[in-house]
Amino acid sequence: MITTNPLTTEELALIFEGDQTQAMYVYQDSIPAELEVLKANCEEIDPEDANVKMLIARMYKTVTDGDRAGVGIAAPQVGLNRRLFLVKRFDKANEPFEFFINPQIIWYSSLLQQGEEGCLSIENRYDTVYRSLAVQITYFDLEGNHYQEVVEGYTAVIMQHEYDHLNGVLFTDRIEEQMNCQYEDATLETPLVYEV
Ligand SMILES: [Zn+2]
Repeated sequence: MITTNPLTTEELALIFEGDQTQAMYVYQDSIPAELEVLKANCEEIDPEDANVKMLIARMYKTVTDGDRAGVGIAAPQVGLNRRLFLVKRFDKANEPFEFFINPQIIWYSSLLQQGEEGCLSIENRYDTVYRSLAVQITYFDLEGNHYQEVVEGYTAVIMQHEYDHLNGVLFTDRIEEQMNCQYEDATLETPLVYEV
């Protein structure tokens, strides 16, 4: 069992703010008070709290919202420092969005891939980041069931980007960190070995 702090009055106000069928406001790194939220470490959320369902529905609406649509979104981007994100599953038929409650990446492949990233919270910045080619992730659903799976390719990149958000890390931080490192490009010809 996970013991989590219940959603605060402020968090509930954010979830139910305005027209609940519409997208939520996305926090921006250019605004100091919002950057503070983006840089904070997030705490776990109770999967069985009925309000989490509404939060997920609104985050989905936000990440699929017209001009500013993305391929993933994390709770701190809509102002809640909680461990929850949505990811577009490019590795599945019809590429659905799926949500991950209290996710943990428990393994990162040492084999890396290089790709272009952007962020809904960082305007007009797209840049190359190195990420693991595959990750092993555990998470909960709304009934509190626990899952684990190994994900690779672009979906794994999105997961790592969103997981970083839960720890207050932005992709621009990764770029800075990687600036003085030398990496060898991953190629798909390289055999993948999963550690289990
Ligand atoms: Zn982002």
